[in-house]
Amino acid sequence: MAELTILKERVLRDGKCLAGGILKVDSFINHQLDPILMMEIGKHFARLFADTGFNKILTIEASGIAPAIAMGIATGFPVVFVKKKKPSTMSGALVSTVHSFTKGIDYTVSVSSEFLGKDDRVVIIDDFLANGNASRGMIDLVEQAGGSIAGMGFVIEKTFQEGGKWLRDNGYRVESLVRVASLDNCEIKLL
Ligand code: 5GP
Repeated sequence: MAELTILKERVLRDGKCLAGGILKVDSFINHQLDPILMMEIGKHFARLFADTGFNKILTIEASGIAPAIAMGIATGFPVVFVKKKKPSTMSGALVSTVHSFTKGIDYTVSVSSEFLGKDDRVVIIDDFLANGNASRGMIDLVEQAGGSIAGMGFVIEKTFQEGGKWLRDNGYRVESLVRVASLDNCEIKLL
């Protein structure tokens, strides 16, 4: 089962609702980090994707890096994070555009073709799945590189937004450790 009970309990205990369907988990996931919980998240992702033949973990800065590195420690596979700007020092950059749900703007994302290529079978990891825009940007980069996607893992999926449906309808394997059904009236309801 994809769900992680200790994480569900923590989200219910320490998660906070913000206006506009945003869940704040910055006391343990994406500002202050609970390292013990993060390692459990990494081990759980490692188990979930063990049968997929993946050999690389891809995420996007900044909040995806912690769960991705935890999975990297659990598996020994390299972790690459997509950058939200194209550094002038990057060689052979692959570039895509992502719309930010939390900030309401489009931004350019990039990864060096040195670290993403045709031999890579990739698990994509992120902290949240909302509308799936960050995921689509990462899928685009893997496709540009000629690699393949083994699956997508999210610490928290908000099922009242469209990303999960879009990814599953398009044939991607999606594993979410906590699924939030609603944040209406500032009440966290999990599936
Ligand atoms: P998507 O691209 O799927 O619409 O949104 C995913 C990205 O937006 C994640 O990388 C995450 O950083 C951010 N995000 C989306 N929804 C939330 C939320 O409810 N809370 C927080 N803290 N970040 C979110």
